[in-house]
Amino acid sequence: MLIDTHAHLFKEYDKDRAEVIQRALDNGVEKIINIGCNLQLSQTSIDLAAKYDNIYASVGIHPHDGDEDDLGKAMAEIHRLAQQPKVVAIGEIGLDYFSLEKESEKEVQKKLFREQLAIAKELDLPVILHCRDAYQDMLKILQSDKVNRGVAHCFLGNREAAKRFIEQGLHLSFTGVITFKKQDEILQVVKETPLEKIMVETDCPYLAPEPNRGKRNEPAYVRQIAEQVATIKEIGMDKIEETTTNNAINLFNLN
Ligand SMILES: [Zn+2]
Ligand SMILES: [Zn+2]
Repeated sequence: MLIDTHAHLFKEYDKDRAEVIQRALDNGVEKIINIGCNLQLSQTSIDLAAKYDNIYASVGIHPHDGDEDDLGKAMAEIHRLAQQPKVVAIGEIGLDYFSLEKESEKEVQKKLFREQLAIAKELDLPVILHCRDAYQDMLKILQSDKVNRGVAHCFLGNREAAKRFIEQGLHLSFTGVITFKKQDEILQVVKETPLEKIMVETDCPYLAPEPNRGKRNEPAYVRQIAEQVATIKEIGMDKIEETTTNNAINLFNLN
């Protein structure tokens, strides 16, 4: 059994969502966490979790979806959504400096991020962290806000950043990127990360693993990612399935 800990089963699946979910089950992917990125998609995640037994939801505002003018109202809404049935985490939230237009956007992102970290803490929920080109700033915030329950999703940081996330108590989650060519550093990170700290995810519809790179991704393909973790760590697939599944069940309280 495997768990896809990070999927976005939104409009890209409107025509065949039930089949996609059935294919996941047929491939032993028995649970899926569907991730919100803004208020509307957080509500959609809750609706999907209500409709499908094996889907759970997370709610949160992605760093690219923030709007400071409405921060108070948005946070009240996240607080409300987070208490709906089958919501297992706050996310995805974080920092993304990849395509910043102005330096001041960093402060806007940090504020949005910390407000949501506070909600997670208040409601005793783990966090799903999105980070791009911002590992130093994120680690600083996680340390000062004492965040130690969560996962750095689609981890693509270097070995030093990986070490510091793990020291902070967090998990690392890997996507299809670890099946792509010329990813030596991330393969080294997978090798060095204790299996007890690893989870697997598709981040579908993006980042389909080989041999489907470039096509629409789906939760069933999390198996290829887990197989790649098994290859890199030279550990049997049974052990990879058991441990990554337990990691997700424990972190997100899925029982
Ligand atoms: Zn993300
Ligand atoms: Zn995502």
